[in-house]
Amino acid sequence: MRVDVLTIFPGIFDGPLREGLLGRAIDTGLVEVRLHDLRDFTEDRHRQVDDTSFGGGPGMILKPEPIFRAWESLGDGSRRTVVLSPAGRRLDQALVKELAVEPWLVLVAGRYEGIDERVVDGLPAEEISIGDYVVSGGEMPALVLLEAVTRLVPGVVGREDSIRNDSFEGGLLDHPHYTRPQEFRGIGVPEVLLSGDQAAIERWRAGAALEKTRRSRPDLLPDRSTDRGE
Ligand code: SAM
Repeated sequence: MRVDVLTIFPGIFDGPLREGLLGRAIDTGLVEVRLHDLRDFTEDRHRQVDDTSFGGGPGMILKPEPIFRAWESLGDGSRRTVVLSPAGRRLDQALVKELAVEPWLVLVAGRYEGIDERVVDGLPAEEISIGDYVVSGGEMPALVLLEAVTRLVPGVVGREDSIRNDSFEGGLLDHPHYTRPQEFRGIGVPEVLLSGDQAAIERWRAGAALEKTRRSRPDLLPDRSTDRGE
């Protein structure tokens, strides 16, 4: 998978792209991430990427020209372009799966008061939000999207069953996990996990995942009327 990121702060990506699963996916060539500094696509002496808002108001707006130039510099070829925005479709595991099969993604990170609306209107682009809150720039949202998507690129996560059991994959949250010590501050671990009986362990995990979902995220369960005893 190829991912191009258009941003005014490429340095934000330095650490996250070097470490962990994402870093390894890049090192092994499973994922290729190219960062593009929007200032390199300005044509004025000050490399200005933002300007004041027509109609007035506080805050600066990212100008359309550097974004269009950067996007066009990527060449031809079909790519899915995502503008990170609180106004976008909410990112969830279904959308992550949809994005994970794309061979080429372009992520556009906004800053300040946001991006000139003509970027979304004029590019073949869609807006995606990471949730109903506002962060200061699109770089973190782009990284969240990138981490979620690259986990699903075949080969990135060594054991594919670890993805299969992830929260949201089967419509439920993941089951609780325990590791050593067997007893910690007077709290033990469920006996069945020590039994070596793999079938019993799987049954316990399925039940525990359902119970945890019912408690923490009942909205994920298909028939919520049964939760209310109706
Ligand atoms: N004035 C904008 C609004 O109220 O919708 C917020 C702009 S925000 C400070 C600057 C940039 O951060 C946005 O252009 C977007 O790229 C990014 N951003 C902020 N919150 C986001 C979210 N929940 N999801 C995706 N991107 C977000």
